Amino acid sequence: MTGGTQQTVTVVGGGLAGCEAALFLARRGYRVRLEEMRPVRETPAHQSDGLGELVCTNSFKSEDPANAHGQLKREMRAMGSLLLEIAALSRVPAGSALAVDRHLFSMGMTRAVHSHPGIEVVRQEVEALPEGPAILATGPLTSDALSKAIQEQLGTDSLAFFDAIAPIVHVDSLDQEVVFRAGRFDEDGDYLNCPFTEEEYTSFIRALKEGDIYPGHDWENVPYFEGCLPIEVTASRGDDTLRFGPMKPIGLVDPRTGRRPHAVMQLRAEDRAGQMWNLVGFQTRLRTGEQARVFRMIPGLQEAEFLRWGSIHRNSYVNSPACLSPHGGLPQRPELIFAGQITGVEGYTESAASGLVAALNMDRILRGEEPSVPPPTTVTGGLARYLRDTLPKRFQPMNSNWGLVDPINQRIRDKGERRRRMAERAQEDFLAWMEGLDVPAPTLPEPSPGELLELEPSGSPVAPA
Ligand SMILES: Cc1cc2nc3c(=O)[nH]c(=O)nc-3n(C[C@H](O)[C@H](O)[C@H](O)COP(=O)(O)OP(=O)(O)OC[C@H]3O[C@@H](n4cnc5c(N)ncnc54)[C@H](O)[C@@H]3O)c2cc1C
Repeated sequence: MTGGTQQTVTVVGGGLAGCEAALFLARRGYRVRLEEMRPVRETPAHQSDGLGELVCTNSFKSEDPANAHGQLKREMRAMGSLLLEIAALSRVPAGSALAVDRHLFSMGMTRAVHSHPGIEVVRQEVEALPEGPAILATGPLTSDALSKAIQEQLGTDSLAFFDAIAPIVHVDSLDQEVVFRAGRFDEDGDYLNCPFTEEEYTSFIRALKEGDIYPGHDWENVPYFEGCLPIEVTASRGDDTLRFGPMKPIGLVDPRTGRRPHAVMQLRAEDRAGQMWNLVGFQTRLRTGEQARVFRMIPGLQEAEFLRWGSIHRNSYVNSPACLSPHGGLPQRPELIFAGQITGVEGYTESAASGLVAALNMDRILRGEEPSVPPPTTVTGGLARYLRDTLPKRFQPMNSNWGLVDPINQRIRDKGERRRRMAERAQEDFLAWMEGLDVPAPTLPEPSPGELLELEPSGSPVAPA
């Protein structure tokens, strides 16, 4: 089967999601107009005018499939990921992680896109939602004009400009001897509670106040709303402030002691399967190493597996569960598909995978087929379900992790073995999903990988043509 040749698709944003989407479609015979605003208009974080620029770390995380990031890569590979092709050419040693030389990587992405005869790269800021079939992948730093246009179309509350993320832990890693299920005043029993003695609370508050904080960039200028202050800021206002705020013990009785604890940290379920639990009110700017150290002092969390770390930073993202169809399209315009970090996925590879699924669905829609997303037994599918099913008022960006994925029915005690089995199943189900879609094969010859990244004799990259 061949793709819908000669149709034009607009892709807005030449980041990781946009480049993946553009190449996927161009390889299947579509004409792609890729509109990227840099260097005409800069973002505060990008340093170059290269496509697919990595704005921070040079790591794409683990390649081990037993790790959800590793499995995500296998799923991306099955969709023909450009990011992984270029990462293989530009990788640097980093143990079991896939890390790259960022300049070489962006150069490879830029060349792959520029050299494809089916893609026209236009350097201009897009200020209105595009007409016709389009993928909108403008990322966490979407320009002001386009943000305004999105809000005009989807509603003022559709787009957030900052995230204030509390960490999430896996239920299997909680100490069930300590944690108890109850709601304040027995209104509901939906919360898991971590009870503190006075001594434990005092040590915890001290550690929290001394924790090393990620300062953020000057341009981020995060506005702290009273309702979602970083936990360490609230703690700094007085040793008992948290005990009268998110950690108040009122209405709770610890079944082990029969008494009200001195303070309580509550966990709220993040997914219907009850695998992921959110530390309520614990949005934070502590560095991740510090979060591990300080939050594992919470009774019941000594061995906690953190599926997502807390953070507060600049991030434009659409409230996907409230505003978008399951494939990321506008309900009234399915052929205008949002992709990448702007949909509320978090991270380089998550964004790239989202770009691939968006392109795959664009091809389906243009061929008259229904859009489709991978099953929730896969990492990509787990993320898609999160974007679809989360309560809109609680929606916050999410990275890939096994808590998003349907658990396996068998009881397997060993965590490593359990994850390997989940990865095996994810891979089988992902490939079966792809096969069922009858995705068209690439049609055009392309430059060999070696041609994309020429090196000077010194080992440094030759500037892009
Ligand atoms: C400061 C910062 C640090 C981060 N650190 C990490 C990290 O360490 N690890 C990690 O995994 N993720 C990190 N992220 C998230 C990271 O940005 C995303 O994971 C990833 O880059 C998102 O890919 P994307 O394609 O959705 O967006 P991007 O890669 O940002 O690409 C979007 C593109 O759209 C362009 N654009 C924006 N508006 C317009 C417009 N109106 N018209 C035309 N073009 C437009 C931008 O110039 C940009 O090139 C960080 C984000 C920020 C802001």
